[in-house]
Amino acid sequence: MEDAHAIRLDLGSGLQKCSYFAVFDGHAGDFVSKYISENLMDTILELWTNSDSMSKVNSEKSPLPKAMSDSDICQLADSAELDRFKKNIKEGFLKIDGSMREHPKFSSPEEKSGTTAVTAFITPEKIIFANCGDSRGVLANSKSVRFGTYDHKPCNEEEKKRIENAGGSVMIRRVNGSLAVSRALGDYDYKNVSGLPPTEQLVSAEPDLSVMDRSEEDEFLILACDGVWDVMTNEEVVSYIYSRLLINDDLKKVCEELLETCLAKGSRDNMSVILIAFPAAPKVSQEAIEQEKALDAVIKEKVSGIVKQDENATLNSILEELQTMTIENLPPGGGIHCKLNMIEGMLDELLPNRSKEENNRGMGQSMPVVPLSMIRQFASDGVGVGAEASEESDESHP
Ligand code: MN
Repeated sequence: MEDAHAIRLDLGSGLQKCSYFAVFDGHAGDFVSKYISENLMDTILELWTNSDSMSKVNSEKSPLPKAMSDSDICQLADSAELDRFKKNIKEGFLKIDGSMREHPKFSSPEEKSGTTAVTAFITPEKIIFANCGDSRGVLANSKSVRFGTYDHKPCNEEEKKRIENAGGSVMIRRVNGSLAVSRALGDYDYKNVSGLPPTEQLVSAEPDLSVMDRSEEDEFLILACDGVWDVMTNEEVVSYIYSRLLINDDLKKVCEELLETCLAKGSRDNMSVILIAFPAAPKVSQEAIEQEKALDAVIKEKVSGIVKQDENATLNSILEELQTMTIENLPPGGGIHCKLNMIEGMLDELLPNRSKEENNRGMGQSMPVVPLSMIRQFASDGVGVGAEASEESDESHP
């Protein structure tokens, strides 16, 4: 497990009403992802505080009305201040990437880790996404995708141009045939071209920034690493989470269900997700709960029917058979995959002696057989907004 995440609900320093959320997908070790999760926000805040005293020295601002206490102020409501904060975010990514390189850990040539970063800064009026790499942030509004961040893959025109300018190449969709992301923190083996600034190296730590005005119809925001997006589209994730929030208001549970569904769809990467619900998020509805109960009853009946006819049935053969049947009201985006746990639980009861080696959760794809106990290692971050699933990691594939 090389992922890390960070959450800060109150940034202080004139940003009391602003929050920060981030998911880091580490690769080739967990040093960089952990380090960045612990230090990125402080680095940005330091730049913010320093540039504030500079701007106060340089300009004669009218003092704030006396009635306003510090905690009422969100400086980012002011567009010049918002621009300053955006600049600080971008500089913060580059600054920490430069300073981390001096860490004693990197005196060892063995230390080659790196991490992607997808971050969201939420103010009373704006959502600022800063993305570096191929993790993704998605904003849901009115049951659909309002915004999704752009993935930095080596094959992308702009990325490829920078890589080739720095003397590298893109092979098998990877930087120099090896690294699957074109922007990341760490990965210093790809940042050694002399005469080029950090933003022009084979791999750059420069984030893309996007600012959205918050809308009353914004429902929820998801930050997740590519293990999720490899098997589900933005639209599928939004539809699926929407449908889960109608039957369950426990966000941690919803995150777990999303990750279980991704595992069932064949994801074999480690995964982390943060789900943030806004006031317009769907509310639990009795009708949706009843519909889900009816759906579960239909699936259970079909599974019992299949097992009665074939006591050698395996999880895979049952899933394959279920996929050929018309089953109404399967959760959009999740499909039959999101019922894998329930079906497996039934099989444990109906066929307690079945061979578990046949549990191939990839369903029709050729995937290694992995014991479920290994796949399902959930951890929560203690504030009820995160969940992680862990499996083996692939050193070269973030
Ligand atoms: Mn990954």
